[in-house]
Amino acid sequence: MSVTRDVIVVGLGGMGSAAAYHLAARGQQVLGLERFGPAHNRGSSHGGSRITRQSYFEDPAYVPLLLRSYELFAKLERDTGRTLATLCGGVMLGRPDSRTVAGSRLSAERWGLPHEMLDATQVRRRFPTLTPGPDEVALYEERAGFVRPEATVTAHVQLAQQAGADLRFEEPVTRWEVLPGGKGVRVHTVDDVYTAGHLVVCPGAWAPRLLSDLGVGFTIERQVMYWFHPRGGTAAFEPGRHPIYVWEDGDGMQIYGFPAIEGPDGGAKVAFFRKGTVCDPETLERTVGPQEVVAMAAQLRPRLPDLPGTLRRAVACMYTTTADEHFVLARHPEHPDSVTVACGFSGHGFKFVPVIGEIVADLALTGATEHPIALFDPLRQSVTPEGVTTP
Ligand SMILES: Cc1cc2nc3c(=O)[nH]c(=O)nc-3n(C[C@H](O)[C@H](O)[C@H](O)COP(=O)(O)OP(=O)(O)OC[C@H]3O[C@@H](n4cnc5c(N)ncnc54)[C@H](O)[C@@H]3O)c2cc1C
Repeated sequence: MSVTRDVIVVGLGGMGSAAAYHLAARGQQVLGLERFGPAHNRGSSHGGSRITRQSYFEDPAYVPLLLRSYELFAKLERDTGRTLATLCGGVMLGRPDSRTVAGSRLSAERWGLPHEMLDATQVRRRFPTLTPGPDEVALYEERAGFVRPEATVTAHVQLAQQAGADLRFEEPVTRWEVLPGGKGVRVHTVDDVYTAGHLVVCPGAWAPRLLSDLGVGFTIERQVMYWFHPRGGTAAFEPGRHPIYVWEDGDGMQIYGFPAIEGPDGGAKVAFFRKGTVCDPETLERTVGPQEVVAMAAQLRPRLPDLPGTLRRAVACMYTTTADEHFVLARHPEHPDSVTVACGFSGHGFKFVPVIGEIVADLALTGATEHPIALFDPLRQSVTPEGVTTP
């Protein structure tokens, strides 16, 4: 058993690395424990790009967090000299009453966010790579774009270490418990046992294992990212010419995609937003089958005629989805004095990574935050599994 820390952070992926940094920057003695290496590709924070946008169709309640996240991404870029966010513009496409279009518009109007509504002809003229149907429209947002997940994790790891955090990789946590009396925690890994005044758990797809007493139901979903090299090359797909997009069809199914950012031989990344298959992180199928590629290609052909072109690669990733697709971010209801949790990011968490780090630090240190996080309460009825009653 080694010396007691102020805070132990379990999981140093997107959220945990940000939490470790914000806690260390506030003078906390932080021990971070991660089962894999820094910025690895076996969880939810890999694949080179993540969409970021402010006119948030999921719920207007996310907008203030996004505004803060944009500020913190810019600060992280200044502090590390890395390029992490590229605001190349984005379109939310679908029928006017689709969740993607109507929801984005609601957030934009409620928060006074700069945006433009475009009809199908205007979209085709402005973005010749996209060919919406006559009944489709788009909300265009200049400040949408993409962030870089691995570089963001690396930046937070680097700053956390510079602020004195002790981050240990390749050291899986096997279990944790709250110390008798309810103050402080003990964390067991394959190598050692550690104690701390407070525990932060950011387990990604391992939430069902590390947070089995949280009382929240999670579905772990396998999701595939595809990189297609466009017919005619990548020039028309470069950032500035080809936007990020989320595109909903008449059945509510969404696909999304990015500009080509991997050079002239690379591909433009595309994926289904939901439509994953249930999986277990220990046995995740990493091989992508030909029938999966065919299904993606069929979605692209009518909407982006230069795609699918040639498949460059396809990579699996995991969502940790709650029943209402909203996050879980709070003190642990069973251990409110000793444990803070950040999980259930439901496939849309990365754009929030820096602000989640800030909120986790607030919660861990004071039990409260000035950020609006009521939507992410683990006791909300909509995320508790059947049979669990809430107060
Ligand atoms: C295909 C795909 C596309 C996505 N697209 C977008 C997008 O466009 N925009 C967006 O905002 N979001 C997107 N997301 C979602 C976003 O990437 C996730 O919400 C975010 O990465 C989750 O971060 P996390 O820290 O919870 O998980 P992770 O980054 O996976 O971190 C969890 C960490 O905990 C570690 N861990 C688990 N168990 C243990 C243990 N026992 N001991 C030690 N360490 C442990 C894991 O190894 C891992 O490193 C996408 C996700 C995927 C998979």
